[in-house]
Formats: sequence, C-alpha cells, structure tokens
Amino acid sequence: MDLSLPFDPPEFRPGSVWLVGAGPGDPGLLTLLARYALDAAEVVVYDALVDERILTFVPPGADLEYAGKRGGRPSAKQQDISLRLIALAREGKRVVRLKGGDPFVFGRGGDETLALAEAGIPFRIVPGITAGLAGLAYAGIPATYRGTNSSITLLTGHDMTGAVPEDFDWPTLARSSQVLVFYMAMRHLAEIARRLIDSGRDPAEPVALIGRATTPEQRVVETTLAEAARAAAAVEPPAIVVVGEVVRLRRTLDWFDPAEAARHA
Ligand code: SAH
Repeated sequence: MDLSLPFDPPEFRPGSVWLVGAGPGDPGLLTLLARYALDAAEVVVYDALVDERILTFVPPGADLEYAGKRGGRPSAKQQDISLRLIALAREGKRVVRLKGGDPFVFGRGGDETLALAEAGIPFRIVPGITAGLAGLAYAGIPATYRGTNSSITLLTGHDMTGAVPEDFDWPTLARSSQVLVFYMAMRHLAEIARRLIDSGRDPAEPVALIGRATTPEQRVVETTLAEAARAAAAVEPPAIVVVGEVVRLRRTLDWFDPAEAARHA
C-alpha cells in the first residue's frame, strides 16, 4: 500500500523488533511512523490495550499474535513475551511489538528492550501518545495551565505486587505536585485518596476519572478526592485518574463527543 509518507522512513530490517506505541484508542492518534511500521511488519505482537481498529492496519499477510495480560484471555508472562520477541526476530522477521499508549510509559517497554539488548537483537522505539496526556486532552482538561500548575506527575496506582506503591513519599507528592495523573489506580482509589488527604490535600479538590479515553466509549466523571472511590463504579476500565485544579477547566473545555466519535468509528 502506498502510504505517501511525507518523510523517508527508516529501514525496517528483517530480524529487528520495533516497539510501537498505539496510542490510547483513537486510530487518528497513531503516529506516521507507527502506521508505516504496521504496514511493513511481518508479525505484530499486540497487547490488551490496543484498540481493535488499529489492528486493521496490519496487512492480511502479516501474523497477529496476542500477548496481553488481561481482558479475560489467558495472560502471558512478561518473560515469555520477551522470549517470543527474541525468537521471532531470530527467525528473521520484521517484528512489531504493539503497545497501548507509549511503550515506555508504564508499558513494560523497558523490560522488553533490555531483554532484546541482552540478546543482541536490534530494536527501535516508536513513541505513542500516552493515555495520561491524551485522556486529559479528550476530557477537556489541560495538562498544564498557566497560574494553576507548572508541573504534572504521572504515577502508577499499583506496584509490582499489585499494592499501592510504598516507595512514594506521599507527603512530598501531595505538597509538591499540583496535578497528579494516576494510571492503574481504579482498584486502589479509596486508599490513594485517603493517603493524599492524610498528606494534606483538600478532600474537596476536583478529580476526574476518565475511562476508555479517546474512544466512542469514553466516559468522564467529575468528582472530588473525598468522593472519588465511590464514583469509580460508574467508569469502565481502562481508566486514568486526574487530581488537581485543572479539572475545573473541563466545565468550559469539554469538547469531545463520544456519540459523534461512534458515528465515525
Ligand atoms: N503504556 C500505556 C499505559 C499502560 S498501563 C500508556 O502510555 O498509555 C495501563 C493503564 O493505562 C490503565 O490501567 C489505565 O490507567 C491507562 N490507560 C490505557 N489506555 C487507556 C484509555 N484508553 N483510557 C484511559 N486509561 C487508559
């Protein structure tokens, strides 16, 4: 297929692996390099967060392999996924490892590229738009806003054991970061909110829960730190949690219409 790319793309060599960010859902948010990689791939190993519409860009001749960790399907172990990528590359294939959002933002892209590097497999990273930024944009919440916040922190709501991360210094976090964006936090929302309030954040501080961001199923619930855990039931995963005064701007800036997106999907 002629993709008419406005640049000369790098060569996708047989025997190499490209870790490609698929973005949060809306296929329009795919980068040109991601689109090129999907077109040139011989095998695409994708994870659970990749939107199905993006898989339609994979040419019929290429193999599609699911290697996700949720979604009711059998879950693949991280080590097995890395070994699979290495094996496919050693077969001389052009391998795309397709991940939701950005591969290096809470996406285990670090683990996979370390394994590839150790095995001597050439690789390339194609960044994607991470859910924690695109989700805010599609919810009408500026990630930074002059006079409100001069920093933003991206955090995970659980650590390797599945518990709320112990290595955060909650009081410092609560004091120093005006806007907090949590990934993988819905399950532990009550505890996260409690720790932030105990560390000095206002229980009335605005919070947005953004589920299935950028898709026709996007749902945003505006709540407060004190009420966030109770509000969580109304939002389908995957979801991000935004804590901070910037959430108030959504009242005026809410532009995305999921129903209209559904008509164009
Ligand atoms: N690499 C991904 C993040 C993977 S961690 C990225 O950069 O976006 C998985 C978490 O990402 C989910 O628990 C959820 O918090 C968030 N997430 C991914 N896709 C999302 C979406 N479409 N809407 C809301 N949150 C999403």
